[in-house]
Amino acid sequence: MQQYDLTIVGAGIIGLSIAHRFMQEQPGIRIVILEREGQINRHQTGRNSGVIHSGIYYRKGSYKSKNCLEGYRLMLQFLQEQNLPYKITGKAIVATNEKETAALQKLYDNALSCGLKVSYMEQSDLRKMQSGLQGEKAVWVPETGITNYSLVAERLLQLLKAGGAEIVYSSGLQNVMATNGGYEIQAGSQRFFTKLIVNAAGLQSDRVYKTITGKKSPVTIVPFKGEYYKLKPGFYQSEIPIYPVPNPDFPFLGIHITRMLDGTVKLGPNAVLVLDRHAYEKFGFNWNDALTTVSTAGLYKVIFKYGKTAFNELLKQTSKEYFKQSVQKYWKDFDWEMVNGYTSGIRAQAINQNGLVDDFVYEVAENQIHILNAPSPAATSCFAIANQAYEFYRNQATV
Ligand SMILES: Cc1cc2nc3c(=O)[nH]c(=O)nc-3n(C[C@H](O)[C@H](O)[C@H](O)COP(=O)(O)OP(=O)(O)OC[C@H]3O[C@@H](n4cnc5c(N)ncnc54)[C@H](O)[C@@H]3O)c2cc1C
Repeated sequence: MQQYDLTIVGAGIIGLSIAHRFMQEQPGIRIVILEREGQINRHQTGRNSGVIHSGIYYRKGSYKSKNCLEGYRLMLQFLQEQNLPYKITGKAIVATNEKETAALQKLYDNALSCGLKVSYMEQSDLRKMQSGLQGEKAVWVPETGITNYSLVAERLLQLLKAGGAEIVYSSGLQNVMATNGGYEIQAGSQRFFTKLIVNAAGLQSDRVYKTITGKKSPVTIVPFKGEYYKLKPGFYQSEIPIYPVPNPDFPFLGIHITRMLDGTVKLGPNAVLVLDRHAYEKFGFNWNDALTTVSTAGLYKVIFKYGKTAFNELLKQTSKEYFKQSVQKYWKDFDWEMVNGYTSGIRAQAINQNGLVDDFVYEVAENQIHILNAPSPAATSCFAIANQAYEFYRNQATV
């Protein structure tokens, strides 16, 4: 039977950067990457905003904060070393009323405590950026950029293959049996032995957890679709991403305006609770995913905890009128006539018995590492998440 030292389940940016970290630390390590799809970048890594986040939003000391601050630096280093395209644009976060201004002040204070060099902007600065932008107050975050995470994943895969790693496509993890000092794995027509297994299966990470451990995952993945609308050329000139102030009760950053590296301008994403983990088209339904979602007790906790506000928030996200109003709050010129394209991505958002899980979640057991909640800013943070995973391995695993 084929023998490997490390099996990675899921060839997204997280699985690939973890494999890359192991290869850097242990050249010659035998790595196999299992990917359920026939190619990479089919899910979150290939369907996001492409923003290199600064870390302003995340509570100091949390994994999100630590991994994003370190990940920002490591991502820029990788992009430079590998000659991959990116731009440092900075970004503006715009508050449009008193409540948002108070929340913006908290973000500002958090940013300073995390060592970010933020500053308040004048109204006139906003207008200079783009006509029609408006707000009561805005914060300028210089450490923000834009890249293409699909290209990062492709390059990581190239480097891994050059270092001897193998990738097996169309091979979802099916069965795992603990044997002496490792696991016997079955995936598609493959059967092999591995010493260490890393679960980086994104939208399926809770199910992969169960396959590996035989136990129910401590979190359930609930899919939140993010819809984007593309602007026709000529309506929006700014290079700078513009963000609203996020609702502190929800770990989503709100509908923002972002110019991608290819020059297209995307508005989005909203956050629509869907009943299919792969519902990229307008309508999607999957019995298994739907049953999992509606039987997730933590979802009802969210609704009870925040009451009508949360319920309204989730419901109104589906409405096009709400989408328009959300953008018009800070960019009054926006109208649907300016739009000529649609894309979407689905966030793997974990829920536990207390509700939506804000922070990244790692679970570590002997010879297993599970990445159970890695939504935004996990693409920015991927190299720091990989360092974190390697640290767990060094401290706990026994390979
Ligand atoms: C709408 C949206 C906007 C975002 N914007 C940003 C942003 O601007 N900046 C940022 O930093 N982050 C952003 N993110 C978050 C970022 O995209 C994700 O955090 C990151 O891509 C997660 O990577 P991943 O490798 O965990 O997951 P994925 O990219 O989803 O990869 C998981 C892989 O596992 C595979 N898989 C699943 N089950 C199995 C199985 N049983 N066996 C084998 N393989 C399996 C899947 O096919 C998939 O290829 C955004 C996400 C979304 C959805």
